[in-house]
Amino acid sequence: MEATAQIEDRKLIQQAYRQLLRSIKSPLDATDQKNIRRSYEIAVEAHSKQRRKSGEPYILHPIEVARICAEEIGLGPTAIVAALLHDTVEDTDVTLEDIQEQFGDKITHLVDGLTKLKSDYNPDTAQAENFKKVLSTLVSDVRVVLIKMADRLHNMRTLGSMPKHKQLRIAAETSYIYAPLAHRLGLYNLKTEFQDLCMKVTDREEYRAIADKLQETKESRNQYIDAFIAPLRTKLDQLHAPYRIHGRPKSISSIANKIRKKKVPFEEIYDLFAVRIIVDVAPEQEKPLCWQVYSIVTDVHTPIPERLKDWITTPKSNGYESLHTTVIGPGGQYVEVQIRSERMDEIAERGFAAHWKYKGLTNQQDLYDSWLDGIRELLSEGDKNPKEFINDFKTNLFSEEVFVYTPKGDMKILPKGATALDFAFSIHTDIGQRCTAVKVNNKLVPMGYKLENGDQVSVTTSRNQKPNENWLKMVVTSRAKTKIKASINEEKRKSGQLGKEALERKLRQLKLDFESNVDAIVKHYGFKNRIDLYYAIYQSRVSLLDLKQLEVSNGHLVFESAKPIQQAPRSTKKGKSPKAPISINGEPGDQFKYLFANCCKPVLGDEIFAFVGANGVKIHRTACPNAQHLMSSYGYRTLEADWISENASHFVVELNINGVDDGPGVIERVTSEISTKLGLNIRSFSIKGDEGYFEGKISLIVSNTNQMNQAILALKNLDGISNVTRTE
Ligand code: MN
Repeated sequence: MEATAQIEDRKLIQQAYRQLLRSIKSPLDATDQKNIRRSYEIAVEAHSKQRRKSGEPYILHPIEVARICAEEIGLGPTAIVAALLHDTVEDTDVTLEDIQEQFGDKITHLVDGLTKLKSDYNPDTAQAENFKKVLSTLVSDVRVVLIKMADRLHNMRTLGSMPKHKQLRIAAETSYIYAPLAHRLGLYNLKTEFQDLCMKVTDREEYRAIADKLQETKESRNQYIDAFIAPLRTKLDQLHAPYRIHGRPKSISSIANKIRKKKVPFEEIYDLFAVRIIVDVAPEQEKPLCWQVYSIVTDVHTPIPERLKDWITTPKSNGYESLHTTVIGPGGQYVEVQIRSERMDEIAERGFAAHWKYKGLTNQQDLYDSWLDGIRELLSEGDKNPKEFINDFKTNLFSEEVFVYTPKGDMKILPKGATALDFAFSIHTDIGQRCTAVKVNNKLVPMGYKLENGDQVSVTTSRNQKPNENWLKMVVTSRAKTKIKASINEEKRKSGQLGKEALERKLRQLKLDFESNVDAIVKHYGFKNRIDLYYAIYQSRVSLLDLKQLEVSNGHLVFESAKPIQQAPRSTKKGKSPKAPISINGEPGDQFKYLFANCCKPVLGDEIFAFVGANGVKIHRTACPNAQHLMSSYGYRTLEADWISENASHFVVELNINGVDDGPGVIERVTSEISTKLGLNIRSFSIKGDEGYFEGKISLIVSNTNQMNQAILALKNLDGISNVTRTE
């Protein structure tokens, strides 16, 4: 038996390896071929004793990661070798020296980066800190992060064999770090798949529901797409340039987002798909040909002019180029059409790697360089806490951009949302700090004015101007923020000196030692540090006379000790049974003083997790709007939670209902349905109407999600009710 199993394993491994080799599109020279073969052999040997959670031989993982690198990200042989070796140094006896000896510097550098990312990576620290590490690796060689993404993608695809709480943690981290990074690096396919896989973990039911509906409607959708495309083909054929045209459904997570945002059911989402036209032409003919295609499309189908987006003339900051328009198709349905060249398509699908390949072909080669410089600059401002760092990163380096001009006509690129004052700081620190007024297109604007594309901005300065705290609210770029803070601190330090001297005098009068009392005073007045206290004294926000009234013991001022905050003992649930209906980390919930979170009000049967907060343990739904934030920022504080009893408790669930108002009839029908027919208790019910339309909230007591779903269904079927949803 043993022997057969081994033969089976070997077959699987060789199959996977052959598939990897087939997926490599880039030409390989003899050294590349030798290196790939050699790294494969080393990895097979090194991982020979390991298995994945699913029971498969471990080596299948690095092989698959290498295949994703080659086929789905478009990376070359160096990255493929590094991907094959990515788990060896951390998990096996292979050392970096071994790799150095066999493969040289480049590959060693990549494997080292991947190993560091893994071993420094601490699931117990906040995600923000981990994110910072990922970014530090990113600036040393982008490929490290690209391989890491392939690694994460494969882990997400095979997440099923992990315990649920680990799935949740990995999903939270993926949507916090990897999905946005994939987006920023232009890897749209990866980003979409990350988001879908995350949703599958956090919101399995909704995911299934949408997937099923997409499947059900597939045939009619394809018919529609055919009808939409047919008249276009006739005309496109006359262009005599090779082209592809097809309709693609949008991703499940993006459809879910639309349903949530627009608050409409699946059936009312019109843009479930987009039509894409890809032409194959030489770079210099791309632009005119794309516009020609645009004109064909809009000849056949009426366009909605304000929906035209031209990312060919001004590509997105992640390199994305395409022409988007929305037209009215058969039956009055809106259809999004995307027009691009094969080159643009490759960049759109593979982002960074493809961008590199075409570097020099177009005029935008420095897009990523300046972006990476931005990250480097941010990383070098060492005094930031990780949270601040992430915030700055998100506003400055993830966002889209706004293009504005100096009075001389030089273009400046700032993050979207940047203000006139940000502009001043982007020109020069001195100009920022002395800024007194800003004119945009020759009109005076407030310093907090949000810049728009094409604005021409001029700044007036004065020698006497100084930044103040208010300025911090008027800027978004980290550059401006850092400079303003530095200047305020300098100012505080200077005037604070006077405050400090006043305090020294006071303590001398009271015959008290300065050093042994000053920190207690800082604490007493609630300041963060001495400088803030000195500055407050200078500004007379703190009166030193108060100190005289205090008692002194052993040369120390005695402040009334703060009363410890009393926490009222709260019982978890007033159910009849004292037994908790849930387990936390596999143990009966009674041992934890937990509460059900008010934000999402879990009901027995919901998917849940436990979160250890400042006020004890709270149970949230995994679909809770706060969940992602909690798990991603404080993954280490989440615990697994499961329902263990079937009917021990009662839960309050709140439903939104709306519909067509026909007077008191609705209220009567609702209450009779709920209390008489279903036998459920209503805790509260409010309804307000407006011109024949009404909205209401109803709180019910249920024992589990089955009862809740029954109630939702029953209410939906009532006359005059159009929609019933659970409150989020
Ligand atoms: Mn791995």
